[in-house]
Amino acid sequence: MRFTGQCQCGLVKVEIAAQQLPALYACHCLNCQRWSGSSFALHMLCAASAVGVAGETATYVREHQGHTSRQHACGVCHTRLFNETTAAPGMRVVRAGMLEGSEHFEPVAHIWTRRKQPWLVLPPATAQWEESPTPEAFAAALGSQPRHTHAS
Ligand SMILES: [Zn+2]
Ligand SMILES: [Zn+2]
Repeated sequence: MRFTGQCQCGLVKVEIAAQQLPALYACHCLNCQRWSGSSFALHMLCAASAVGVAGETATYVREHQGHTSRQHACGVCHTRLFNETTAAPGMRVVRAGMLEGSEHFEPVAHIWTRRKQPWLVLPPATAQWEESPTPEAFAAALGSQPRHTHAS
């Protein structure tokens, strides 16, 4: 499968090649709300090698809970595109809302629901945690190897 997306102005394009839809989860923490200017952030965990980028990104490096996160955005329109973090080596965490067809992707987990905006009703059958789950529990929900949850 191939997933494509771009920033608002179209200068930077992202393409993901994967056997299946990569693990998608929503984070409702205050950082993600503030950073997205929205109710939650939609994160897609992809192998770094699967994420191709055309066009130059502007980066912002942030230290968070002992990890270093490098955020990539379009330098012109400032759309956030993806990040890399020492909490999830070899991965790129893609801001899935900028992908074509993202309306068809359903998150397999919701984290930091303690901060969830109260009007938002989550599907009860979807895995959810009030804060960050353990790497093992999170991996089980995502169907992948254990890794830290706060990969953003
Ligand atoms: Zn742009
Ligand atoms: Zn978050």
